[in-house]
Amino acid sequence: KGDPRLDAISRAIRVIPHFPKPGIMFQDITTLLLDPKAFKDTVDIFVDRYRHMGIDVVAGIEARGFMFGPAIALAIGAKFVPLRKPRKLPGEVISESYVLEYGTDCLEMHVGAVNPGDKAIVIDDLVATGGTLSAAIKLLERPGGEVVECACVIGLPKFKVNSKIKGKPLYILVEPT
Ligand code: AMP
Repeated sequence: KGDPRLDAISRAIRVIPHFPKPGIMFQDITTLLLDPKAFKDTVDIFVDRYRHMGIDVVAGIEARGFMFGPAIALAIGAKFVPLRKPRKLPGEVISESYVLEYGTDCLEMHVGAVNPGDKAIVIDDLVATGGTLSAAIKLLERPGGEVVECACVIGLPKFKVNSKIKGKPLYILVEPT
């Protein structure tokens, strides 16, 4: 897109082949966190996009959505809502299961975290199939939240142009290398 910040962000993400299992090219954003300029640029790009959209909720997906979401939420004056793996949240929760390549997984959200009419964005580090984001959208919609957009640092090329997940726009910064 001609933003020089995106090249530096892409370069700061380390690729570890065959983690956690053979064939997976793992996109490791912990090296992005080690580069304060690229890390700040990543957060700033999301903040500039969402600051004037009346966003009430930034929902971050465990665990790597937690590394970007709170900084964005603080900067735009929104709540941060963690969407967690099962049995981690101590209060009353709602749950959404989703299908993985092998087996299923589940995300949970605290009851009372999202109010009817809240405008929300969902943030994670990477979108692959979109299954995780789909579950997140369903969770936010159950108490009446309105998901405005899903945001990821990394997305496959197929998501680059005007793609949607459950009808919601998807905004990604870079492709896997
Ligand atoms: P999906 O639900 O298929 O879109 O998978 C996205 C979730 O799996 C995100 O929470 C990612 O952190 C994680 N994930 C999937 N593939 C990778 C990968 N190649 N590198 C790093 N994380 C990945």
